[in-house]
Amino acid sequence: MQASPLKRILAVAAGALIISAAQAGEPIWDANKVEMVSEKMADGVYALYDKKAGEINAKGGAAATSGGIIVGARGALMIDTMINQRLHKQVQQLNKTLAGKPLLYAINTSAHGDHSFGNMYLPAQTLVVQHANTQAYIHQHLEKDKAFMLQYFGKGRGIEQIKARAADILLPAGGKLELDLGDKKVQVIDFGFAQTGGDLWVWEPGSKVMWAGNPVIAGKPALPWLLDGHLLETLETLKKVYAFLPPEARIVPGHGTPIGREDMKWHIDYLQAIRDQVQAAINEGLNLEQTVARVKLPEFGGYALFGWVHPGLNVPAAYKDLQKK
Ligand SMILES: [Zn+2]
Repeated sequence: MQASPLKRILAVAAGALIISAAQAGEPIWDANKVEMVSEKMADGVYALYDKKAGEINAKGGAAATSGGIIVGARGALMIDTMINQRLHKQVQQLNKTLAGKPLLYAINTSAHGDHSFGNMYLPAQTLVVQHANTQAYIHQHLEKDKAFMLQYFGKGRGIEQIKARAADILLPAGGKLELDLGDKKVQVIDFGFAQTGGDLWVWEPGSKVMWAGNPVIAGKPALPWLLDGHLLETLETLKKVYAFLPPEARIVPGHGTPIGREDMKWHIDYLQAIRDQVQAAINEGLNLEQTVARVKLPEFGGYALFGWVHPGLNVPAAYKDLQKK
């Protein structure tokens, strides 16, 4: 997977955001300051997130990476390993306190550094589970990705020293895997392209909890980031996940506190609205610039990053995707 032109557009947009944030003295969220906390979803099933995530999500801001711990009779499983050693140590400490059992598996929901950079700090015996595309991406692009992440999160946040750790278990495209923790059997599923092409969802059927990673960034008003394009596939995948989930399911998003199944509708409705309106603009012969000016979707405003995620990333991604048809 090559860094797409969209990723470069984003890098410019994010760069501008970072420059203004850096001038204010703060990165988007500071990996040297975030405190991770746990929320018990069921016996042995915990969501982990930024202590301030609830407050930040409600304001439409950007919270730090969420993750999880699932504890079974045989041992524990970690979902996402965090951006740096500091936050990784916090989630390991939470595992020690909550599980008190060896960490058998660690799953990366994507190649994004805030979900996978911590792999190098895992115990040697923990098996790392990734999508094959995630491993390929990290293998080819780690240094470029670190530079990209440094732009977002700043120097001196533990990103400089990151080295890749090879995965032990790889899921192929469309793959599904069951990890046996004894009394709990955790499913790891690729539902299709959702943001990176290496997106894994983690489902604990007993508690009906789904970990989404970045494809569901947080509850309303947060919106999907089509960083690598593929509007149509992303929409299909989110609909597939929605159809898979029972009504009472709860979702741990990539950057927030748990939400319900119906909360996914916000993300699906937004992608459908972009698809329909961008398609109408293409049918009228509008160019990209005119389409961005036309498709404003103010009803989906409220997300702090709307001003660049929507016109800078998502509408251009939709335009490119729909034009190919
Ligand atoms: Zn993330």
